[in-house]
Amino acid sequence: MDDLLRALPKAELHVHLEGSIGPETLVELAPSLAVEDVRKRYVYNDFRGFLDAYKWVNGYLRTPAGYALITRRLLERLESEGVVHAEINISAGVIVWKNQDVDAMFEAVAEEAARHPVSTLFIFDAVRQFGVGAAWAVARHAAKWAGNGVAAFGIGGDELAIPLSEFQEVFDFARSRGLRLVPHAGETGGPDEVREAVNRGAHRIGHGIAAAQDAGVMDLLRERDIPLEVCISSNLCTGVVATLDQHPVRRLWDAGVPIVLNSDDPPMFHTTLLNEYRIAAQQFGFAPNELRRLAENSLRYSFRTGDPTRTSGMV
Ligand SMILES: [Zn+2]
Repeated sequence: MDDLLRALPKAELHVHLEGSIGPETLVELAPSLAVEDVRKRYVYNDFRGFLDAYKWVNGYLRTPAGYALITRRLLERLESEGVVHAEINISAGVIVWKNQDVDAMFEAVAEEAARHPVSTLFIFDAVRQFGVGAAWAVARHAAKWAGNGVAAFGIGGDELAIPLSEFQEVFDFARSRGLRLVPHAGETGGPDEVREAVNRGAHRIGHGIAAAQDAGVMDLLRERDIPLEVCISSNLCTGVVATLDQHPVRRLWDAGVPIVLNSDDPPMFHTTLLNEYRIAAQQFGFAPNELRRLAENSLRYSFRTGDPTRTSGMV
C-alpha cells in the first residue's frame, strides 16, 4: 500500500511551514530543548491547545537560517513521500507580529526551496484574530512577491474571531495583484463560513469540511469547482471532529465535492501526507482508482498554471 501511495505523483497543497517542524528539527533550531519536551508540547485535545503550541514553536524561529533549515527538512520529507509539487503556507502574519523581516525570511526560504527537486509555490498567511490591519500588512508583502514564488494570500487562525466579510478589501487587493485566495474556513466554523469564503472569492478553501452539513454549500462548491483542502488527522487532533468515523471526507467525495488530501501541520498532528492517503483507504474505503483520482486532484487544483481564474486542466 505504501509503495503504491508513494508512487502516485501528487502535490501537497495545504501544509504550514512553521507547523512542519518535527521535534528533532526543533531541537536542531533550539539545542537547549529536549526532543521529549517537544513531543509533550505536541499533544492537545482542542483547537486552542494546538494554536498555543503553534505559537510556542514560532518563538524559536528567529533567523533566516532557521527558516531555511525548516524548509529543507520539509522538502526532504515531502520528496520521500513522492510529492512532486508543494504549495506551502508561511505564517507571514506571525513574522510581522514578531517584528521580524518578512522579506529576509522569505528570501532564505525561497533560496533553499530552489535547490530542491520538489517544485514549490508559497502562500502568505495572515492570522484571522490579529485583525484587518495586520492582514493588510501580509497582503502587501505577498503582493511584493506575487509571481516570484508567492502564488496566494491566505488567512488562518481562529475563524470565529472576525467575520471574513471584514477582510473583503484585503482580498480584493490581493486578487488585483494576481494572487489566489485560500482562506481557512469551515474548520471550527459552520457551513456558512464556507459559503462566505466562496462569496469572498476563494480559489480553494482550507478544510471546509463543515460544507458536508449543508447540501446547498456542497452544490456551490461543485458548481464553482472550488476544492476543499481536507486534512483528516488535523481535524481529529484539534477536536473539530470527535472521532475518525465521524469525519465527512467520504460524504464530501460521494457528493462530488472537489477535494484534495493534505497534512496541514504533519508532525504536530502525528501524520504525514502518505498517512492521510492511507487513512482514506483503510478507514474510508477509498479504492486504488479513487486514491489515484485524489492524487490527480492535488495536481489539477495546484496554482502552477499561469491563470488566476483557473478552471481546468492538469498541469
Ligand atoms: Zn491549515
